[in-house]
Amino acid sequence: MRPFGYVSAPDLPTALDVVAAGARPLGGGTNLVDLMREEVERPETLVDLTRLPLADIEELPGGGLRIGALVRNGHLAAHRLVRSRYPVLAQALLSGASGQLRSMATVGGNLLQRTRCPYFRDLSADCNKREPGTGCAALGGVHRATAVLGTSEHCIAAHASDMAVALVALDAIVVLESVRGARRVPVAQLHRLPGDTPHVETDLAPDELITAVELPATPVARTSRYRKVRDRASFAFALVSVAAALEVRDGEVTDVRLALGGVAPRPWRASEAEGLLLGAPATEESFRRAAAAELAPAVGRPQNEFKIELTQRAVVAVLRQLATERSSAERAEGTGGAA
Ligand SMILES: Cc1cc2nc3c(=O)[nH]c(=O)nc-3n(C[C@H](O)[C@H](O)[C@H](O)COP(=O)(O)OP(=O)(O)OC[C@H]3O[C@@H](n4cnc5c(N)ncnc54)[C@H](O)[C@@H]3O)c2cc1C
Repeated sequence: MRPFGYVSAPDLPTALDVVAAGARPLGGGTNLVDLMREEVERPETLVDLTRLPLADIEELPGGGLRIGALVRNGHLAAHRLVRSRYPVLAQALLSGASGQLRSMATVGGNLLQRTRCPYFRDLSADCNKREPGTGCAALGGVHRATAVLGTSEHCIAAHASDMAVALVALDAIVVLESVRGARRVPVAQLHRLPGDTPHVETDLAPDELITAVELPATPVARTSRYRKVRDRASFAFALVSVAAALEVRDGEVTDVRLALGGVAPRPWRASEAEGLLLGAPATEESFRRAAAAELAPAVGRPQNEFKIELTQRAVVAVLRQLATERSSAERAEGTGGAA
């Protein structure tokens, strides 16, 4: 590991000044410090954010939540209002990493964690994301865990975060601050597709910090789920994941949110599928048609082609489960569908 400077910021203005001067933000360090040990990341100075007063979860007027960027993943997953209003988010968080890691990892750091593509971490391999212009070793190498949607000839790495997939499905907003001021960006627009600049991963400017994530009030999210398909039951990244929320009235889909993980270079909002589902009968056939349309542009390679069919099956399974839950709730309420 190379020597580096370390500043523990006592307050936000100091943190913003130090970041503007070129320091790299440090949240829980569970990703950045690993990569520094491997010399994939070589920041000259770190600014530790963990003393900043950004670790609260507050209710917003109208029923949403504002989540400070330093809220730990484990704390967020256990929060009463997250579990009741946004079960998909609690489930996504709990499906990630381990209890110990979730106790350290922060919301801001989770959103900005780097890909787990093995070639990104292997300094002896070509990787356009780590070293622009060198090539993509994954294309002709081991690429079972890589993306099938939104890739380019320069990079096929998949985005790793589970939490981000749920946030995209929930229309979450990320709050970015710098010495120049604050701005709010939908999480769905935070991460970029690789195109011919895979090293540029987000729309975050170098001097910006994530200070919060806001969740709008989303009644449909009360009936929501996160399903993660992976090689072992815990402590493994997603091969494929699905974040979904569904409202059904009189057998018809009246609201739906759908996002996919493990299959694209960024958390993937399944807008095509959502468009087809809205107003359609809540049947297996509609679910299959929507999933197939979303995956139609997917490009599989010899080792990851299986993800295309797997994703479609996972989408159908989650929607089927949510539709069953909604119709049982309707029957129990005897109200014809009040949430
Ligand atoms: C063994 C292992 C298994 C894992 N399994 C999973 C899994 O299954 N699913 C999953 O989703 N994740 C998984 N993870 C990843 C884990 O979720 C991330 O490492 C963690 O969320 C990163 O958060 P952090 O606060 O530690 O980030 P850090 O390591 O501190 O930072 C990560 C990046 O974010 C930047 N950053 C941090 N905070 C801010 C901020 N507020 N503003 C701007 N930039 C910031 C840093 O500069 C750095 O670039 C796993 C990690 C490990 C080590």
